[in-house]
Amino acid sequence: MSVEKMQFQAETKRLLDLVVNSIYTNKEIFLRELISNASDALDKLRIESLTNKELADDLAPEIFIVPDENSKTITISDNGIGMTRDEVINNIGTIAKSGTKDFLDKIRESSNAAAQELIGQFGVGFYSAFIVADKVELLTRKAGENSAVKWTSDGAGEYEIDDCDKDSRGTTVVLHLKPEFCGDDEYNFTDVYQIERLIKKYSDFVRYPIKMNFEVKDKPEDEPQIEIRTVNSMKPLWTRPKSELTREDYDEFFKHQLHEWEAPLEVFHIKAEGTVEYTALLCIPKHAAPDLYYSNYEAGLQLYSRHVFIMDKCKDFLPDYLRFAKGLVDSPDLPLNISREILQQSTEVKVIGKALEKNIIKQLGKMLKDDRDKYEAFWLEFGKSIKFGVYNSMFDTKLKDSLKDLLIFPTSKEKFSTLAEYVARMPDFQKKIYVAAGKDAAAIQQLPQMELLRERGLEVIYLTDPVDEFVIDVLHEYAEKHFQSITREDFELDDAESQKIKEEVAEIAKSHEDLLKDVKEAVGNNVHEVKLTSRLKSGAVCLVTAENSPSLSMEKTFAAMNNPMFKAVQILELNPNHAVFKKLEALHAQDKNSADFKNFCTTLYSLALLIEGVMPDNPADLANKITDLLTK
Ligand code: ADP
Repeated sequence: MSVEKMQFQAETKRLLDLVVNSIYTNKEIFLRELISNASDALDKLRIESLTNKELADDLAPEIFIVPDENSKTITISDNGIGMTRDEVINNIGTIAKSGTKDFLDKIRESSNAAAQELIGQFGVGFYSAFIVADKVELLTRKAGENSAVKWTSDGAGEYEIDDCDKDSRGTTVVLHLKPEFCGDDEYNFTDVYQIERLIKKYSDFVRYPIKMNFEVKDKPEDEPQIEIRTVNSMKPLWTRPKSELTREDYDEFFKHQLHEWEAPLEVFHIKAEGTVEYTALLCIPKHAAPDLYYSNYEAGLQLYSRHVFIMDKCKDFLPDYLRFAKGLVDSPDLPLNISREILQQSTEVKVIGKALEKNIIKQLGKMLKDDRDKYEAFWLEFGKSIKFGVYNSMFDTKLKDSLKDLLIFPTSKEKFSTLAEYVARMPDFQKKIYVAAGKDAAAIQQLPQMELLRERGLEVIYLTDPVDEFVIDVLHEYAEKHFQSITREDFELDDAESQKIKEEVAEIAKSHEDLLKDVKEAVGNNVHEVKLTSRLKSGAVCLVTAENSPSLSMEKTFAAMNNPMFKAVQILELNPNHAVFKKLEALHAQDKNSADFKNFCTTLYSLALLIEGVMPDNPADLANKITDLLTK
């Protein structure tokens, strides 16, 4: 095949644009990215050659780096798996990552500083070459094949792909450096010693030798000789004693290992020598991957046996709700040639997984106690995952007990509160934990039911995430205190004053049974019952749901999940001490069959729906009725 000119996929083009007009502050990371790719390619070759004996040869795996002052280039070569022409087109001309488009849209909408932060979460891998180079050539020959291809691009709209000669398998990437990266300034990527330092800094633990040419002289007057040296120590980080390692070491390791651009929020280095021996190096990233909650998100840990890479994305170690945790497990008790199927059955994997889960829960509890700011940052990114954990622990009391103290919620008094903290603040007479669901804190604060609670100084837990109400349902109680939604029919305040008002309202209700029956008839079957209430102060109406029915927001969630049959059982409550009630009474007394009375009733119901953030079935009709009322 001859030379082809091809366009980058649209998203790739946009991403490249970001890279070329570099909003990246760290110019050095291209080297780490390209070395990571080279080391992955060597891993892939090793794994392939386990089953395909033709690939096994005596070429020792290595990565070679040549900075060259004369040609103003830096070349990174590996003798790994290499790529076919199609693979080059698919891997290098296209970004396969799901969530790329969402990510780019977010970038476009954000300020420069926010964009920096965002791009840090994404990482652009190979394209980072264009931070420092104005032209990149990639020559590659797939292991087991005779032909090679050359890919060339200046990082603008298109790339060129052509056949080429290459002696042996693997990939060579040549970066033609921009002038500012080959002078004597801060960055000179043609300088052997600067590159040596960068390799030691970012890629010391890479498992394959990273080699470079050094000029050496025995005596100053001698002609320099070229000596090839391995620059990295190749010692897997996780085999080193914890006491020797700094947080920075871990940070660099994870950036390399996971192709992340920013340091993780938290790292765990776990060594165990019980029934199963293993070392795990795990981390919680600072930010959730854009596609973390998508079904095609590939979670899982990397698996090593005796420091040799076996496979990526092993889902069998951690339960799904901990899918945000990343890292690796290295165990000599797992055989080198283990398959995914055997892994699923392996008791060793189960033992390790249980221990890791326990450890992560314990460490999160510790973070919550010792570093609240960090925990809240964790929560904003991954709180949903912990909630899913609680939700899924419906039949696992032990797990539920270990997770419930990790939950934090915004409340009417605190930015975030644990359930234990909330209970500790409850006044003696309060017997239940008050919760309210809504779109956000502002919407909940505006609920008419909140007014009285606010006045009494009572605290309410805000459930602003659709999964929250389900979590509360599963928990049922905390510290022997039941949860009580303030928008449920059976909600009542426990203090003496509230009890007194309740009795008064019950008296009024007795003498207004007819009125309530006629209101119910006017609003129709959407409402199960119409009642008088003691829970409102300045509000005229509110909508609550029956004790065991889904709430209105749960109904919305169910509808969004295509389960429209789960309906909230609605109860319309009227405040007998409100002027609107007096008006209602008067209209009823005048003529309970009049259109005025009926319109008044349906308008009240529509307003109650609006307060709950639910659009009435016929908004135009409501608008007409309100206009009528305004002009009367
Ligand atoms: P990532 O490494 O995060 O997948 P990159 O943009 O760095 O993203 O690389 C895209 C893909 O190109 C890789 O997944 C790999 O399949 C292929 N690739 C990149 N560099 C090499 C290499 N040196 N050898 C073989 N394949 C490579």
